[in-house]
Amino acid sequence: MTDRRLTIVGAGLAGALFAALLARKGWQVDVFEKRGDPRVKGYEGGRSINLALAERGLHALKQADADGPVMAQAVMMRGRMVHFLDGRVELQRYGRDDSEVIWSVHRGDLNITLLDIAERAGARLHFHRGFVDADFDGCVARYRDGRDGHVEAVPFVALVGADGAGSQLRAAMDAYRPVGERSEFLDHSYKELEIPPAPGGGFRIEPNALHIWPRGRYMCIALPNDEKTFTVTLFLPNESPGDDVPSFANVRSPAEARALFERDFPDALPLIPALEQDWARNPPGLLGTLTLERWHLDRRAVLVGDAAHAMVPFHGQGMNCAFEDCVDLARRLQGEDDLGSAFAAFESARKPNASAIQRMALDNYLEMRDRVDDPDFLLQRALEQVLQERHPGRFIPHYAMVTFMRIPYALALARSEIQRVILEEATEGVAALSEVDLAAADAAVLESLPPLQDAA
Ligand code: FAD
Repeated sequence: MTDRRLTIVGAGLAGALFAALLARKGWQVDVFEKRGDPRVKGYEGGRSINLALAERGLHALKQADADGPVMAQAVMMRGRMVHFLDGRVELQRYGRDDSEVIWSVHRGDLNITLLDIAERAGARLHFHRGFVDADFDGCVARYRDGRDGHVEAVPFVALVGADGAGSQLRAAMDAYRPVGERSEFLDHSYKELEIPPAPGGGFRIEPNALHIWPRGRYMCIALPNDEKTFTVTLFLPNESPGDDVPSFANVRSPAEARALFERDFPDALPLIPALEQDWARNPPGLLGTLTLERWHLDRRAVLVGDAAHAMVPFHGQGMNCAFEDCVDLARRLQGEDDLGSAFAAFESARKPNASAIQRMALDNYLEMRDRVDDPDFLLQRALEQVLQERHPGRFIPHYAMVTFMRIPYALALARSEIQRVILEEATEGVAALSEVDLAAADAAVLESLPPLQDAA
């Protein structure tokens, strides 16, 4: 590429990583961010909101040499700690051992680490500059200073939209040439609460796990933070057909929230001393899946991360996928001579994969809230481990393909569907692993699953 200049809209997770990746390759990068600098005022996202980092995201961080500082504060999560209604607790490991785990990372700290790396590599960061709109013919974008309302026009060579699910750049592109946008909101939303440290300063519950309280049509989860807190997320339907199913329509007040926890999450309730205050302070968050027919406008603009493909959070892959986008686009920009060709190649490579993980994320909601405490689900997970040992490199559990590998999401989805049928057929009418017809399952694996190579 000859003209190595780009403007990034949004200095969130994807914008900051992308700026770091390109600036380190010698690109002239300007980043415009609506909010203030989180390194000055503290992260505006608020308290310790955390995210699960998996192999795809970790690999991307390594490309920017950001893995060291990020992993120094990450908390390992070995599996799901399932909290049953009767008070029993059970750890379901995600992988075979501690080489197959996910990591809880603090959104604000991660963002700050990436901004520091981007800036050190030469990226110019402009805070309090919210993208308003663009004149794509004249290649000039307008940004509003959030402090005094002043609007500034700034020329660009090309715009990269990393401004999240509500992307204003996407709206501007759509107004210029429709991008074919569809948003499907889930009929469930979420509320964030907090488990503080124990009085002695330690964690109140097992730190090295993602805690789940599955309750059929709804659930609660909790992820650890390195400051010994947990961020709790309660997912509830927006409406419910009757008062027997809790929803944000019938659990409105802090007192109603307490009553819900007393009934359905009794072991979680004493862990959340500020339940009422958290409930009153944090509005419910919407969840949805965004799809676009086009992610780019010839050589002038392209969208990455949530701006292109926001998804529901149930596979913990939105950020991981956004980071994978950044690595892919940065590599194509290095290799191509023309911005438009790089954007087009990026879009056609990443779109089917984004759509696959969006679908898997929706499917995973049902699994987390309703299936993780089912005997047939547990039998299928046990058989999955057996088939993995009998057919290494050929039968790889669904969760492992998405979380511990970097094979394309679309390939993980296709293989998972074949494996799901094998598991369902092998466990039909069967109560224990010892009763499974392993010879038949082996034959099905060998017939339908060719050996798989991980993306190196
Ligand atoms: P964002 O992180 O939203 O960043 C967008 C940035 O653009 C922000 O800094 C914003 O201020 C800025 N901006 C917005 N508008 C403008 C404008 N007009 N001009 C300039 N700047 C602007 N993903 C995981 O991988 N693991 C998880 O465990 C996980 N858990 C999640 C839990 C919940 C409840 C939710 C809602 C999401 C979760 N995700 C998770 C998804 C993850 O949060 C997103 O996929 C990720 O933040 C996307 O990064 P992004 O940079 O594309 O967008």
